[in-house]
Amino acid sequence: MTSETGIKRLVIVGGGTAGWIAAAAFARLLGERLEIALVESDAIGTVGVGEATIPQIIRLNTILGFDEHDFLRQTFGTFKLGIEFVDWSARGSRYLHTFGDTGLNLGNVAFHHYWRRHAMQGGSESLWHYSLHQLAADQAKFAKLERVGNTSMTGLAYAYHFDATLYARYLRNYAETRGVTRHEGIVQTVERAAESGDIAAIMLDNDRRIAGDFFIDCTGFRSLLLGHELEVGYQDWSHWLPCNRAQAVPSRRIDPLPPFTRATARRAGWQWRIPLQHRTGNGHVYCSEFISDDEAAEVLLANLDTEALDDPRPIRFTTGRREQFWAHNCVAIGLSSGFLEPLESTSIHLIQSNISRLIELFPRDRINAADREEYNRRTIREFEQIRDFLILHYHRTDREDTEFWRYCKHMSVPDSLTHKIELFGSGGRLGRDVDDLFREASWVQVMLGQGVTPADYNPMADQLSNAQLGQFLGDLRKIIEKAVAGLPSHADYIAQHCAATNA
Ligand code: FAD
Repeated sequence: MTSETGIKRLVIVGGGTAGWIAAAAFARLLGERLEIALVESDAIGTVGVGEATIPQIIRLNTILGFDEHDFLRQTFGTFKLGIEFVDWSARGSRYLHTFGDTGLNLGNVAFHHYWRRHAMQGGSESLWHYSLHQLAADQAKFAKLERVGNTSMTGLAYAYHFDATLYARYLRNYAETRGVTRHEGIVQTVERAAESGDIAAIMLDNDRRIAGDFFIDCTGFRSLLLGHELEVGYQDWSHWLPCNRAQAVPSRRIDPLPPFTRATARRAGWQWRIPLQHRTGNGHVYCSEFISDDEAAEVLLANLDTEALDDPRPIRFTTGRREQFWAHNCVAIGLSSGFLEPLESTSIHLIQSNISRLIELFPRDRINAADREEYNRRTIREFEQIRDFLILHYHRTDREDTEFWRYCKHMSVPDSLTHKIELFGSGGRLGRDVDDLFREASWVQVMLGQGVTPADYNPMADQLSNAQLGQFLGDLRKIIEKAVAGLPSHADYIAQHCAATNA
């Protein structure tokens, strides 16, 4: 059911990160033809976490026209070169999943094949010995670097850490300036069109009625419109990703300021550490079948690098996805659409990619079933690809020291992931889908980091003689060391370019 003049009134329900990114993006790209309203409730509030991102966020910021330094100043943001995984494949293990390439691909052959050949001939250096990001992270350094010296090596790929509440405020300011109308209130009832069953309006607790032609459900885990009202079911993936709770707590700022997120495996889950300008975000993600909430809070507080600034705050979730993301005239975006736990900081990216997909398929006069099916098909695929990447971290481990890790190591996993592990384990090759969010470099780092060592390498890597290979690897290391020596510290870079005035 649409208004007589087509789809003109867009109603976004929810004002967390998802709601305000949707409002900002629609105002920027379709603001000329749509009347956009956003409903949120201060009494309900937002989930209040979600502070680490992946590089794709830079694309969103560019589309919105954000000035990077202003954005970081206002959100107390820092730079992120990747995620350090500690104790995942075995106690005492450590690797950085960086956003960049490692080494340098030669011809058609990915660098890790040359590295593997060298290792099979007795070389003891790890792949990360040739990583610009690793060396910069080790030395807590950062600057914007497109290329390494005058070589063809790409420079530092990065994302951000920021304060989730300030991020939503920044987006809100942007969206309201561009004509989005915010309504405060709690949704009490939903009005449906008699014939089509489409959503016609929502009624707020202050008796206000907000009518619309199209609705975006950004109500968080409640999934008020798509889940509750339209009764779209939920596919539970807990058997593959068993963590279902988190405790979050802020602590004092870390010095020197690390340019990366840390994810440390714990006995029944893992703990995050996200460095911001004014504080550190910490959280313990765990499975309630293997540890109690009190114990999880104790583990978190006992493992902070800096003094806690508050009490731990509990959050519950179920990993999985809605059976459909778009039903009738309603699309769920953000936590209302599903949840992939935060191990690889993918949720904000999913919000962004779903909004750009929706804008690409957004109806003008009336909703076409084909557009809706296409949206659902592509979104399901994206969720499943990320799911497999996350499972890899849990499943490929030598840890059997707790019941939780024994479960993860021995659980069955999707066939798609089993195939990828076998392919990489035999010859270092990747069966990566072309539209996979994670690049080849990411799969290689996480496979190796989790202990999947290829038994062989691509024979094309034999094209170099031993002497040439030695020279190539040695030169790479020198070039990387020189580049990192010239970088300022992460803290100095921020102080010079984007320090928050009251951080
Ligand atoms: P919410 O923030 O919950 O917002 C829901 C909105 O709906 C609120 O404004 C609320 O007021 C409104 N609302 C609800 N019901 C009603 C009602 N009846 N009437 C009116 N308004 C209503 N993502 C990342 O990308 N990186 C991370 O590092 C990361 N870490 C995370 C850690 C944890 C433990 C969890 C649980 C999530 C994490 N996420 C992370 C995910 C991220 O937090 C969310 O994707 C993001 O915050 C978006 O949330 P949201 O806007 O969908 O929901």
